[in-house]
Amino acid sequence: MSKDSEGNYAPEKQDVLVAADGRWHDIYASLASSLVPAHKKAGRGVPCPVHGGEDGFKIFRKTAGSSSGGICRTCGVKADGIALLMWVNRWSFHHALQEVGALLRVKDPYGRTADGFIPSVVIRKERAPAKPEASDDWLREAMRNLWKGTVPLTDPSAEPARLYLRSRGILAWDRPELSRYVRFHPELTYKDKAGKRSKHPGIVCTLIDPEGQAVTINRHYLTMKGEKADLAEPKKMFPIPSYRKLPGCAVPTSHPGEVLDVCEGLETALSVETAMGIPVWPLVNSYLLESFVPPACTKAVRIWADKDRKEGGQKAAFALKKRLWEMGIKAQIMLPDMPIPDGSKGVDWNDVLRERGSLGFLGHEVYRAQR
Ligand SMILES: [Zn+2]
Repeated sequence: MSKDSEGNYAPEKQDVLVAADGRWHDIYASLASSLVPAHKKAGRGVPCPVHGGEDGFKIFRKTAGSSSGGICRTCGVKADGIALLMWVNRWSFHHALQEVGALLRVKDPYGRTADGFIPSVVIRKERAPAKPEASDDWLREAMRNLWKGTVPLTDPSAEPARLYLRSRGILAWDRPELSRYVRFHPELTYKDKAGKRSKHPGIVCTLIDPEGQAVTINRHYLTMKGEKADLAEPKKMFPIPSYRKLPGCAVPTSHPGEVLDVCEGLETALSVETAMGIPVWPLVNSYLLESFVPPACTKAVRIWADKDRKEGGQKAAFALKKRLWEMGIKAQIMLPDMPIPDGSKGVDWNDVLRERGSLGFLGHEVYRAQR
């Protein structure tokens, strides 16, 4: 299995990991310098080498020198240094093994090193079975199983989801197209930082990439009474398979037209739909909002932005607007025409819906968009 289709040098992962033990600083410095800061400050948050941000990424402190895996809160878990290199450099599994193996002069099962040295006698050694890990196959299977357990938001059992939405003034959940990618799950698994598992009802959204492929699932954990679950991370993204990319993804809750409405959160999307009767695509977070790639048929995009005190939402919306104009797509930012209350981090369109109802959407911002 280690010999690739061309018959090229291809060491085994286990041999590469044994050789890499204690040498990850050199490996990153040689093959992916963007991982060096995270490795130097292992255990502490640094900007993600792939999506940026402030401190969402870290290399696990305890294993920084041995297996050297890491995690980005947005991009997901990378089980070891090989997975990190594949992700940062967009390498295949084989290519990553070849690069690290060549750097450390690891022999492949045929006794070859990358510079072509082939000994006359090949001694194959016994190998222990590989440890199971969060591989792509496992992820794909886990996501498929999760999705199998979901029902539309209109299903009788989805009452916690409807209670949650209704408590926020949202009444738009019964459009059949919505149920393709936004659904309810009665028993979502949650794993806390200590590895303890618990089950919660919740709303799930599938993120689809510009090629139409499902990339990952975002989970909103709720209680049976329809409250936000009291968890450290009440919204959590499923890890992303190494062969998929998150930037450009969206939750396409309607058939795309010439004018497309987008926003960050699902609650904002359904608030605009409740008030205005128009479907809005949630892009899940400000990073995905900023990197959104609209379908080919789209000529204009309305961005229903969050108004944050720290301006993260506005900045992402402006960055998207600028990029869309450069692509020849018209774009307009719709910002809530409401002051940020004292002690609040910001206001969004759900606050507008709850404070002012549909009338809150008939302010000058919306008027301008409709003209
Ligand atoms: Zn990231």
